[in-house]
Amino acid sequence: MIPSSITDNIAKVQHRVGLSAKKCDRENDRILVLAVSKTRSAEEVREAFDCGLDHFGENYLQEALSKIESLAELPLNWHFIGPIQSNKTRPIAEHFQWVHSVERAKIARRLNDQRPAHLPPLNVCIQVNTSAEPSKSGALPGDVEALAQEIAQMPHLVLRGLMSIPAASDNEAAQRSAFGQLRSCFESLQPCHPSLDTLSMGMSGDMEAAVAEGSTILRIGTAIFGPRNG
Ligand SMILES: *Cc1c(COP(=O)(O)O)cnc(C)c1O
Repeated sequence: MIPSSITDNIAKVQHRVGLSAKKCDRENDRILVLAVSKTRSAEEVREAFDCGLDHFGENYLQEALSKIESLAELPLNWHFIGPIQSNKTRPIAEHFQWVHSVERAKIARRLNDQRPAHLPPLNVCIQVNTSAEPSKSGALPGDVEALAQEIAQMPHLVLRGLMSIPAASDNEAAQRSAFGQLRSCFESLQPCHPSLDTLSMGMSGDMEAAVAEGSTILRIGTAIFGPRNG
C-alpha cells in the first residue's frame, strides 16, 4: 500500500516532536499531538485516526458538529480551539471534551452551567494574550489569576492549563520568548491550582520551540493535513 500524505506527514511530525523532546530531555509521552482538523473532511480525520491520533481540534462550531456526528462511532476526543461567542456555548459544552479558548468568566460560567450532568467535567484552558496586544484574543496576563480562581469554583469544569497563539515568527529566539511567557504565567498559577498540567502551545511552524519551553499539547494543522485551501 502506498502511504498517503497524511500518513507520511504524521510520521514526520512525530519524528520532529521526538527529536525536540530528546534535545531537551523531555519524555515524549508527555507531549500530545492535537490534530487541528478545521476545514478538513471527516474522511481525513478518520485517516489520521487510523495512524494513531485520537485528539482533534476544531475552530468552527457548525463544521465541527457535523464531523463529530459523522464520526460518532470512533473513540475521538474533540477540542474546541476557536473564538467562542456566548450564544454558542451550549453545543460546545455538550459535544466537546476540551475547550482551549476560554478568555472571560462569562463564557466559563455558561460552559459550566450547560455541561450535561451525565458527562465528566469539561477540560478547559485559559487562552492568554501573552503579547497583550489589544487586537488579539485571550485574557491579559494580569487578569489570568482572577479568571483561574473563578473557574476553579465551577463544578462542571476542570481547569487544565493555559493556551496561547503568539504572533507567527520564523525566529526561534522570538518563538521561545513568547512561549516562555506563557510558561512563566503557568508556573505562577500552578502552586494554587494543582489541577493545572497543560500548556497548549506550538503549531506547525514552531513546534520545536514550544517543546523546548514545556508544551504538553501541540496544535498541529498544516504539518499533518497539508496547506489549507482558503
Ligand atoms: C489553525 C490553528 C492551529 C494549527 O495551525 P497550523 O499552523 O496549521 O499548524 C493551531 N491552533 C489554532 C488556535 C488554530 O486556529
